[in-house]
Amino acid sequence: MSLVVMKFGGTSVEDPAAIARTAAIVAGRVASGRQPVVVVSAMAKVTDQLLRSAAAAAQGDRTGALAISSRLRARHRDTACALVKNAADSAALIDFIDQKFDSLDEVLRGLAAILELTPRISDLVASYGERVSSRIVAAAFKERGIDAVHVDARDIIITDSQFQKAIPLDGVIEKRSAEKLRPLISQGKVPVMGGFIASNEAGITTTLGRGGSDFTGALLGGALTADTIEIWTDVDGIMTCDPRVCPDALRVKVISFEEAAEMAYFGAKVLHPATILPAVKKNIPVLVLNSRNPGCEGTRIISLAPHCKSPFKSIAVKKKLSIIDVVASRMLMTHGYLSEIFAIFDKHKCPVDMVSTSEVSVSLTVDSNEKLPAIAADLSQLADVKYEGKKALICMVGEDIRGQNGMAAQVFAAIRHINVRMISQGASEINMSFMIEEEDADEAVRSLHAAFFQNPDPAIFDVEARKGQLLAPSS
Ligand code: ADP
Ligand code: ASP
Ligand code: MG
Repeated sequence: MSLVVMKFGGTSVEDPAAIARTAAIVAGRVASGRQPVVVVSAMAKVTDQLLRSAAAAAQGDRTGALAISSRLRARHRDTACALVKNAADSAALIDFIDQKFDSLDEVLRGLAAILELTPRISDLVASYGERVSSRIVAAAFKERGIDAVHVDARDIIITDSQFQKAIPLDGVIEKRSAEKLRPLISQGKVPVMGGFIASNEAGITTTLGRGGSDFTGALLGGALTADTIEIWTDVDGIMTCDPRVCPDALRVKVISFEEAAEMAYFGAKVLHPATILPAVKKNIPVLVLNSRNPGCEGTRIISLAPHCKSPFKSIAVKKKLSIIDVVASRMLMTHGYLSEIFAIFDKHKCPVDMVSTSEVSVSLTVDSNEKLPAIAADLSQLADVKYEGKKALICMVGEDIRGQNGMAAQVFAAIRHINVRMISQGASEINMSFMIEEEDADEAVRSLHAAFFQNPDPAIFDVEARKGQLLAPSS
């Protein structure tokens, strides 16, 4: 039977209506003879609120932290009551929710007493979102006739101990999936588990990093050698740019693994950057689908995308970046100089997005973070250092820019009114990236979209939807 890992994001489980839609989608897969394994995120915005409660508690605001937790408890209880009417199942579910929020409250009180939030405790607090959402979804599925079983993802997704961005241990995950999920699957049951959360080999809770539920879906898809991995979200698929920024965004019908990975890495929030890897390794197609519009065919991510007449498939934006200029006033570009610079970023475990060098200076871009002052202090032992925040990286992705002449000229002509700080093309041959001020980012995306998606290739993009949009006002 064909196995499909179905991952539903926060908006697909945000309230009773969304969870009921999700149940109908899964039931549809079962009815068509497929075997789903379901992964769900926390209900929309819950992870943010949990992390806010932890931060408040660690700053001594015990009352504020407990108030957030109490609102979250009420939201989950109300959702559970609206979805599960069977008295025994409902009582067991409410009891589970209460137990989890009681233990969260204990953690928050502890934080308010010790006034320190470690990455390990941050992961523990964040984990409650997926722990309760997955339990509620499993109960809602059962009530709707799906033979669902709740599985604690922390028993399957095993990672190292890098809290807040833990690295999965593929071999262990494969073994645990075989031991704990296979038997359920062979009985035709539908396992339902939380995304994002995991544990290290000692059983301590870790997380895969923000947006990590996609990654859980892909890891399970890889471990179980699924036929397909489906990422269900709140838009029709991967679009030519963020539809919140540019309403003209078109659905990309088909995209290659390599293009999707570049897009995700360079900020397109629709997919977590690591999602693609487990799928690529086993050549498992990934579909991005809309749980609010399940009839839409979404985006298919496959190893080799067909040739596209337009050079670009999509425009991604990564905001909240900083640019660091290292100016070698005392030491010209000598042998070993770059490695010394990178050793400092390595020491602070700070990934670098883009690099550009000249004879006397090196510019690097990184996620703005609290490590910057310490990194700059270390770098200033080598050279003069300046850093500035509030930058955005725009990344134009497309396999068909390979070997096209004059592409850069066309890109920069489209945004000639915007000041560009740093440019990179070539590293992967399928992306062209440049850095601008964050405040210019939305305007740049709209200008580029207007310039490059005027006559989209109907084999690759959903041009029918645009025709519909154009007709709508007059009809
Ligand atoms: P989920 O909770 O389902 O994981 P996310 O909020 O993480 O959903 O990702 C979906 C959002 O990603 C969309 O609502 C959309 O605004 C945003 N997004 C950014 N870039 C793109 C893009 N190129 N295509 C589609 N969505 C995008
Ligand atoms: N709930 C987690 C987050 O908000 C993981 C996810 O939704 O993918 O980051
Ligand atoms: Mg997401």
